[in-house]
Amino acid sequence: MVSLMPTLFLGHGNPMNAIQSNRYTEGWRSLALSVPRPRAVLAISAHWYVPETAVSGDSSPETIHDFYGFPRELYEVDWPAPGSPELAERVRQQLLPLNVRFDKERGFDHGTWSVLCHMFPDADIPVVQLSIDQTKGPEFHYETARLLQPLRDEGILVVGSGNLVHNLRAYAWGDDHVQPFDWAVRFESEAKALILAGRDRELAEYRNMGEAARLSVPSPDHFLPLLYVLGLRRPGDEVSFPVEGIEGGSLSMLAVRIG
Ligand code: ZN
Repeated sequence: MVSLMPTLFLGHGNPMNAIQSNRYTEGWRSLALSVPRPRAVLAISAHWYVPETAVSGDSSPETIHDFYGFPRELYEVDWPAPGSPELAERVRQQLLPLNVRFDKERGFDHGTWSVLCHMFPDADIPVVQLSIDQTKGPEFHYETARLLQPLRDEGILVVGSGNLVHNLRAYAWGDDHVQPFDWAVRFESEAKALILAGRDRELAEYRNMGEAARLSVPSPDHFLPLLYVLGLRRPGDEVSFPVEGIEGGSLSMLAVRIG
């Protein structure tokens, strides 16, 4: 029997986390050990933010190094997890009549592999990515996710990878000891309270949440993966925040576990 899979939002933060061991990467590792072993993973990453909804259909996706100015070691990481054209097609069917493009070329971006390489170091679980359509508003993404709820009964672990608070203009690069900005702390705690209270639709309307939200989410890309995770919530699901922390003053590493 396949047990009901939880669903996870992970704050991926700095790409260097992929090759480091720290409290975040340790948190992701423990989290993976605490969930049933998935049949496959469906990842929704901030770094596949394009003007359409697409699924990755390659059976052996390449590792995309979609960042600039990092040490060579990071560019040498290869994340060899297989794809799953079957799951990609399953997702496409599930989202009909939405026209989801089957992308045979797409590899894994770092929003996906920098966290999954810690969770599943053996790279033996198939992974499919679903893109985030940048032309659509938050409500669309939340409703799209709701259509994916049956996947949780089929051993599919859905992982949203972004950052709840993601303001790189304010980010203190290279300073590990900077205090979080007030607005970052405030928006993170408001968001957590809404999530705990099941008020997901209010959080989907984050643009009405004032100044702290505006500074915390200056562009939607890193926030929207959270709405996919919340859209998969069912009544009675437990909620927890297994990883927490604010890096560089303006980057929330919060992880959210639903179920
Ligand atoms: Zn990112």
